[in-house]
Amino acid sequence: MNRRNALKTFAIGAGALCAQSLQMQFASAQQTSPTPSSSGYFKLPPLPYATDALEPFIDARTMELHHDKHHAAYVDKLNAAVKDHPELQKGSVEDLLANLNAVPESIRTAVRNQGGGHANHSFWWPRLGKSGAKAPKGQLATDISKRFGSYAAFQDQFTAAATGLFGSGWIWLNQAKDGQLLIESTPNQDSPILTGHTPVLGIDLWEHAYYLKYQNRRAEYIAAFYNVVNWDYISERYHATRV
Ligand code: MN
Repeated sequence: MNRRNALKTFAIGAGALCAQSLQMQFASAQQTSPTPSSSGYFKLPPLPYATDALEPFIDARTMELHHDKHHAAYVDKLNAAVKDHPELQKGSVEDLLANLNAVPESIRTAVRNQGGGHANHSFWWPRLGKSGAKAPKGQLATDISKRFGSYAAFQDQFTAAATGLFGSGWIWLNQAKDGQLLIESTPNQDSPILTGHTPVLGIDLWEHAYYLKYQNRRAEYIAAFYNVVNWDYISERYHATRV
C-alpha cells in the first residue's frame, strides 16, 4: 500500500477531534514552569518574530502558548532526560535523533518524543512568515514542479495528506537520501530525521497548533497555513542543503 492510500485508509477527518485531549495538552503545558529552564544543555530558541506576526492566520495567543509553553516543555523534558548523560550534551538535537539507537534505552523514548518536539518546532518557526514570496523559488520551485507537476498540484497533495492525518502529528515535504522529494507524515513528535530524511517544509497538526482559533475546523487551519509559509527562507535553505 503506498503512502497516499495508507493516509486515505487511516483518515477519518477532523470530526473525531477530542476536546478532552486538547484540554489535557493545555493543562500539561500550563503545569510546566513559565520560565524555560536556562540551566539545561538544550535551549528554547526565541521566536524570530512577534507572536502576532502571523495574524490573522495564526493568532497571537496560540503562538504564545505554542512557543512559550509547548515548545518550552519539550526542551525542559529533553533536558531532564539527558541530565545524567553528559555524553549526550554535546552536539545538536538533530544529531541525537539521527543516532537514536546510540541513546541509552532507558531514555530513548523520551529523547524521541521530547527531542523530536524540540527539533520539529525549532525547524518550524523560521519557516513561517507572512511577507515575501507566496510560492517556492529557484531550485525548489523547479524540483517541486518536476516531482508533483506544479506548485498547485503539490499543494493539493500536501493538503490531502494534512486533512487525512489521524491524531496528532506532522505532514512534511521531505527530501530522501536519493534526492527525491516526498510528502510524508510522522505521528506524535517523530522527526523526519529519524528515517534519514531532510525536512523541507512541515505543518504542525497537533490541536495545540490551531484549536484556540479554528477548533475542529482543521481544514480551515490548513488552508490558512499557506498564507504564512516563508518560501524565501525555505527556498534558500533547500538550496543550501539539497541532496
Ligand atoms: Mn506544536
